[in-house]
Amino acid sequence: MKAFKILIPILVSSTLILFSCSNRSNFQSKKEVQEIKKQEWAIVIHGGAGAMAKDKMTPDMDKQYRDALSDALNTGKKILEDGGSALDAVEKTINRMEDNPLFNAGKGAVFTHDGKNELDAAIMDGSNLAAGSVVCVTDIKNPISAARKVMTNSPHVMLSGAGASQFAKEQGLEIVPSSYFYTERRFKELQEILKNEKMGTVGCCAFDKNGNLAAGTSTGGMSNKKYNRIGDAPIIGAGTYANNSTCAVSATGHGEYFIRWTVAHDISALIEYKGLSLKEASDLVVMDKLVKAGGSGGVICVDKLGNVAMPFNSEGMFRGFATADGKAGVYIYKDEK
Ligand code: ASP
Repeated sequence: MKAFKILIPILVSSTLILFSCSNRSNFQSKKEVQEIKKQEWAIVIHGGAGAMAKDKMTPDMDKQYRDALSDALNTGKKILEDGGSALDAVEKTINRMEDNPLFNAGKGAVFTHDGKNELDAAIMDGSNLAAGSVVCVTDIKNPISAARKVMTNSPHVMLSGAGASQFAKEQGLEIVPSSYFYTERRFKELQEILKNEKMGTVGCCAFDKNGNLAAGTSTGGMSNKKYNRIGDAPIIGAGTYANNSTCAVSATGHGEYFIRWTVAHDISALIEYKGLSLKEASDLVVMDKLVKAGGSGGVICVDKLGNVAMPFNSEGMFRGFATADGKAGVYIYKDEK
């Protein structure tokens, strides 16, 4: 009887252990099946969100934007196809858009209330959660490259203003007179077409052949901004975030909302803690939470399987994607794709 009393709990607990193990392996194998990479590589970009009504865009301007998006996309696509890193793809793709006066980043950045250009940028490596960012810089030609140097060559995450410029100089990055960012023709042209809409921030997220994710965002911020205002783009978790275990996100829109709703990290957290898909998570944040809050804009994102999503709640968002299965496209308006 005594032996029986001892034997029963042992039998019960070992059955439970066996049951839970077999359940776990079932669960794991299902998860593994779900987690097979869908794409060998993937890239997604944005060039800002806003009220770009079709009737206000001339056919020539429309073409210029689509060509510029394709050009940037192809830069990153080539890097990823050749087996390059997600980080290189993000930096070089954003460099192309920073150098193009069509976008509100690098050359072509919007103007502050005082008639200056103050630029913000951030980059994040999803493989180790390293991140770098520069804010309120006025003379670094390519702020996204400075952000990458902050990430790799400094013990810090964020550098601002004159200190960021000094660091960029020491790192051998190209410094330009602040007049470099002034493009009168483009400025007037854009103001006319976009009616002072604060858009044109650029961003890129990439997923490479090694399964690494990276995200980057570069911007002149919101036009007419005052007092060294800083938006969401250079704030890790707000406008920029990457984590290999979930996704990479770059945002564009009304920064004050994206900061308070920690948009980029919220999308990652919904995937991590709630098990939502990339589409479900990004739609919930952009099309529901932000809409209810009154925060206009959108995000581009790619997950650890190579799925991409590009939701936005504004009239349009300059955007594009390319994946290893040969699918690709660039879009501007809501009713496309
Ligand atoms: N999010 C940027 C900012 O608030 C602006 C934009 O994306 O248009 O600085």
